[in-house]
Amino acid sequence: MYPPSIQKAIEQFSRFPTIGQRTASRFAFYILKASPAEVKELIAAIHALKKDIQLCRFCFSPFQISPEHSPLCEICRNTARNTNIVCVVEKENDLESIEKTNLYKGLYFVLGGTVHTLRKEDIRAIRAQELKERLANPKEFGIQIEKFQELLIATNPTPEGEATGLYIERLMEPLHIPVTRLGRGLPIGAELEYADEETLKNALEGRR
Ligand SMILES: [Zn+2]
Repeated sequence: MYPPSIQKAIEQFSRFPTIGQRTASRFAFYILKASPAEVKELIAAIHALKKDIQLCRFCFSPFQISPEHSPLCEICRNTARNTNIVCVVEKENDLESIEKTNLYKGLYFVLGGTVHTLRKEDIRAIRAQELKERLANPKEFGIQIEKFQELLIATNPTPEGEATGLYIERLMEPLHIPVTRLGRGLPIGAELEYADEETLKNALEGRR
């Protein structure tokens, strides 16, 4: 057993996604060895995350609060983008991966996860109702169009991603927005955030 203060730090770090006890203890010992200035910087960065970042009113992606206090992120407020199409992704990293291809110029929506089953508690964990509200009433959420022309479902080709995509597609049916999916090329079970740029480009171009 480590001294209580080290133990406590390990507990905190092991709450991070994918971080187990062993890695968490490495983090704790790294901080023990760091200079006071480095520790101060780390604490400031964590504070800034909470203080300077907000979630976009339309797409839920986190962005730096602007001086003019816009409720929309840089992508949603960029008038050069194609506001007729919304790409639904599971998480922020997937949005980044698609942005990096430079091929997609529409808007996004971050679901915040996947559903394993269609049980209520699973469904509540993703922003499905929020998506529906935004698709039904874009203007109310800051997007100045009457109706979206395309809903691109870009969940991962994993069993959870597929189930989530199907669920979203069904839930949005009454809105009568044409739905497309990423095309072939993404290996089954793969995740967008690990796909190479070329593969992702092909999947975007081949959407159907
Ligand atoms: Zn946004």
